[in-house]
Amino acid sequence: MSAKIIDGKAIAQAIANQLTQEVTKLTARGIVPKLVIVGINPDDRAQVYIRMKQKRAEEVGIATEFIDIADKTPVEQQEFVTMLGKDNSVHGIILQLPLMGWYDAQDLLDCIPASKDVDGLTTISQDALETGKPGFIPATPLAVMELLKQSKVEVNNKTVCVIGRSNLVGKPLYYLLEQAGAKVLVGHRQVNDLSKLTRQADIVIAAAGSPGLVTAEMIKDRAVVIDVGINEIDGKLKGDVDFESVKDKASLISPVPGGVGPMTVVMLLSNVVKVAQNKKS
Ligand code: NAD
Repeated sequence: MSAKIIDGKAIAQAIANQLTQEVTKLTARGIVPKLVIVGINPDDRAQVYIRMKQKRAEEVGIATEFIDIADKTPVEQQEFVTMLGKDNSVHGIILQLPLMGWYDAQDLLDCIPASKDVDGLTTISQDALETGKPGFIPATPLAVMELLKQSKVEVNNKTVCVIGRSNLVGKPLYYLLEQAGAKVLVGHRQVNDLSKLTRQADIVIAAAGSPGLVTAEMIKDRAVVIDVGINEIDGKLKGDVDFESVKDKASLISPVPGGVGPMTVVMLLSNVVKVAQNKKS
């Protein structure tokens, strides 16, 4: 029996509709949520992501501004982000990666106050997640957790294999899943036989950036498979999962495109709305 396919676009739209309502209530209180996206000479791909975030934000009524700080020195860039952090009209600040000229982007990210860190990438936010304290969680792991929840997939007491351990996706997912009661196995480049891990898993989450990495032989029968990967091949988007073979063995699968991707932007926006809601009017 073929797997049920998760409709990330429809779930994202339902969340966006909910956000529109929340924003309308905030606006009636005189609070217009605002997201500022800071970049340093963004490349073509980053520009696409920036436009995508701005378009979706504006659809739900969140104001946005993109500011390129390439003309500033590194010290001025840090001062600028610090200043945005103090600006009462700004609710969320994100730095569009990669940040040209920064060997360690963390130094600039850490100028964002944790209270406006809607990407959840500052050291304070990351530490809070590791220790289970409240704080902002990066949008992509949040999107995966929300897709599982909305698809009624229980993670408590389940074995989950997360492939990838980046600060942006894999690592936060590890903590979120562990805190939700899952036994988490982490796959990464240094793991010799990835299939040894994936075959034990009730849920496989692929976030490696390696097209078609997860094949049908690597998963157990009726596993849930979430594909975070976005790989551009011949102008088309492909995931980390070999969708065609895996869909006939899994019980539930998220496609690329149309799975985690559309959810990521709305989860970022839901973080912006949270900041605005916490603000005293
Ligand atoms: P990254 O390159 O920072 O990290 C990749 C991780 O996967 C590393 O830990 C690496 O060890 C592991 N890995 C890579 N190839 C592997 C292999 N062959 N076998 C086992 N492990 C392997 O990437 P990232 O920023 O975490 O992103 C991962 C993927 O998710 C990319 O395709 C990216 O485009 C995509 N992504 C999607 C969204 C979304 O909204 N859907 C958001 C962010 C990232």
